[in-house]
Amino acid sequence: MTAGDTARLTVLSGPSGVGKGTVVAEVRRRHPDVWVSVSATTRPRRPGEVDGQHYHFVDDAEFDRLIATDGLLEWAEYAGNRYGTPAAPVRERLAAGAPALLEIELQGARQVRARAPEAQLVLLAPPSWAELVSRLAGRGTERPEVQERRLALAQAELDAAGEFDVVVVNDDVARAADELVGLLTAPSPGASRSSGAHE
Ligand code: ADP
Ligand code: 5GP
Repeated sequence: MTAGDTARLTVLSGPSGVGKGTVVAEVRRRHPDVWVSVSATTRPRRPGEVDGQHYHFVDDAEFDRLIATDGLLEWAEYAGNRYGTPAAPVRERLAAGAPALLEIELQGARQVRARAPEAQLVLLAPPSWAELVSRLAGRGTERPEVQERRLALAQAELDAAGEFDVVVVNDDVARAADELVGLLTAPSPGASRSSGAHE
């Protein structure tokens, strides 16, 4: 991706277990230059997660400090933990004319929309509800009661599809990754009127 008028903030949202992490990892495997924001969270680390790579794992006091110092572009409480996007790296990235990708939940996506109306909002949706339930259970990282909590939020997240610019169905990881790469590299509306922006 080149610097210049294609620089754009893209938000990827979708219910827990739909495959956001998997699709973003596939995008980065193919295009290591795609920059993805690393969020701060108070959630406990899962096996295999690396501090500073998957998340910045912080305690409540540190999260409070990030909020108080206006260090977060957006933040939300989700299923009992807090998550937020460190503002400075995103601002630096966009100021340098390079695209930025955030993988965040619905309340955060709405805050980004309010603060940066030009951002592109992408919803990753499951092929079916049954498939979502099976993926979340199959991942095996949450206890059944936490899975229930996440599924209760999932329906509201899918009901909000109309708030997004694009819905990508994660039926197949490679195909969904292709579609996301296309969206990341599409010129923002108004940046280049002669070419096919996504709408
Ligand atoms: P999220 O980040 O949205 O919570 P994950 O990326 O952790 O979701 O994926 C949840 C589970 O679904 C994982 O076990 C993953 O391997 C699986 N998965 C992701 N995408 C697909 C797909 N297209 N088809 C089948 N399984 C998938
Ligand atoms: P998980 O605990 O499965 O890693 O993430 C739970 C939810 O939090 C997911 O929907 C994920 O997209 C979202 N999330 C991760 N980082 C952020 C963030 O910085 N801000 C917001 N609002 N949500 C986030």
